[in-house]
Amino acid sequence: MARSPDTEVKAGLLERLEKGVVLGAEGYLFELERRGYLKSGPYVPEVVLDFPDAVRELHREFLRAGAEVMVAFTYYGHREKMRLIGREGDLEPLNRDALRIARAFADEGGALLAGNICNTWAYDPEDSDRTGTVVREMYEEQVGWAVEEGADMIIAETMDYLGEALIATEVAKAAGLPAVVTFASTQDTTIEGVEFDEACRRVADAGAEVVGLNCSRGPATMLPMLEEIRAAVECHVAAQPVPYRTTPEEPTFVGLRAADGSRAFPIALDPFTCTRFEMADFAVAARDLGVGFIGICCGGAPHHVRSMAEALGREVPASRYSPDISLHPVLGENIQEKEKRYYDW
Ligand SMILES: [Zn+2]
Repeated sequence: MARSPDTEVKAGLLERLEKGVVLGAEGYLFELERRGYLKSGPYVPEVVLDFPDAVRELHREFLRAGAEVMVAFTYYGHREKMRLIGREGDLEPLNRDALRIARAFADEGGALLAGNICNTWAYDPEDSDRTGTVVREMYEEQVGWAVEEGADMIIAETMDYLGEALIATEVAKAAGLPAVVTFASTQDTTIEGVEFDEACRRVADAGAEVVGLNCSRGPATMLPMLEEIRAAVECHVAAQPVPYRTTPEEPTFVGLRAADGSRAFPIALDPFTCTRFEMADFAVAARDLGVGFIGICCGGAPHHVRSMAEALGREVPASRYSPDISLHPVLGENIQEKEKRYYDW
């Protein structure tokens, strides 16, 4: 459905960033896995085709929580991953449906529609010419569908290799769309060994309007790196951490260990989850560092996003139901004498 010509033209990504923080929201893979619509392991967004209403509902929740960008759920919806689960033939319908579903909510809430590409698992810096061509073709087809479905921007994320990130940037720029390109810091450098501030600078030089980090690190271990990236580039910086309590000893969520030593990633991370207050604090800290595009990644849920929006001084549709503990029968301000039997503190 095309926008009618008399509709007010909505501000694009860069215009919005000039005015202040743009709030994003991701975490579709983990949240839809928790809800029983997506398999952990392959993590392919089959839900778009199999249960589109589940995807719609999560878009609705993120929009109501204050997300200004509706990210089409095409993460890992690329040729390599679709082949893995024997659904390569569904690649184009999945991508187009994901874009259309997201666009309906972007239009409804005045949000931006982002086409989404990510690390492919196909890139090999030791064989960069050949594998780079494969990656480029995968990105070109996904970005091509995003353009045809009316995307306002491209988010290229969880990049592990500078080489792959540069290809993503080139493809997004060739399509004429603003590009947000973010690395997932699983190590101290990209896998080729490039420092992240340098990698971000290179991607910015290649034309990305927004560069930064997403996934992998929680607020505590992402913030120091953001400071370095902010100092290294002139352009806007993006930060979409995972809402998990990563530490200097275990800086990424893949490394987090339960008390018995077992690996918590990816489906036993619950005890490490940040509260909404911790994510609200992150949003403020990132803003104060000069980060313009702030969001959340795997593990994020609408309550986090609403608290982040509110910490940034916003009232969003879901704020109507924001907590008011003063009305709680036991914890509130007007506790009846008879209620005191419920507690003894
Ligand atoms: Zn993530």
